[in-house]
Amino acid sequence: MKKLIAGNWKMNGSLAANETLIQGLLAGLANSAPSCDIALCVPSVYIAQVQSLLADSNAIAVGSQNVSQHENGAYTGDVSAEMLAEVGVRYSLCGHSERRQHQAENDTHVAIKAQRALMAGITPIVCVGETLSEREAEMAEVVVKRQLAAVIRLLGSSIDKIIVAYEPVWAIGTGRTATPEQAQQMHAVLRAQLQSATENADKIRLLYGGSMNAGNAAELLAQPDINGGLVGGASLKSADFLAIIAAAR
Ligand code: PEP
Repeated sequence: MKKLIAGNWKMNGSLAANETLIQGLLAGLANSAPSCDIALCVPSVYIAQVQSLLADSNAIAVGSQNVSQHENGAYTGDVSAEMLAEVGVRYSLCGHSERRQHQAENDTHVAIKAQRALMAGITPIVCVGETLSEREAEMAEVVVKRQLAAVIRLLGSSIDKIIVAYEPVWAIGTGRTATPEQAQQMHAVLRAQLQSATENADKIRLLYGGSMNAGNAAELLAQPDINGGLVGGASLKSADFLAIIAAAR
């Protein structure tokens, strides 16, 4: 399966910094064609700028970091799936742990967001992952399976159209990465859960996220059930992101 390397810029960037970063990525990709799909999930205000910087290249797709669970109307500050689709967004992160933590998004919200994205023709990247205390309490599998189960329940047979990102919360932005064995083990659990929901489970891309960088990407991406990466900090430097792209064979 073709891997996907998706960058998550989080709340970072500026018009000038984005331009430098995109130019660096395009220059790097011009030298060697990537063998994976690439996406950048950027702050919504920069979607138009990034698209215009990417205009002559179809190597990189643009994604959003969130999508409203509401269709339209009196939801000040929200951006709907239809709006994102209208401006050409291809992927939406749904339920990133920072939103679960700081914006009180729960499993039900996340499932509805994924459904809204799909209905608008956007591929949701549904993020799941346990906290450190949940892992220490040996609850990691229970938590992650509960998070995915909510999405499976709502989407039914459309579950094969999503992407899942396993992002252990203790590894996000901490420099502490899950070992390839830990990541593979949880990906296998997720794959098995998807297998009981759809006969197409083997075609669903499962991304690993959590301090992925140029040094650890190759080993993580070599695991049989890891089909790509969701990359935060290392997506903000073109050389680092390009090295991860190169590791995705
Ligand atoms: C993320 O934001 O999804 C992420 C994985 O961040 P980082 O790579 O910085 O840990």
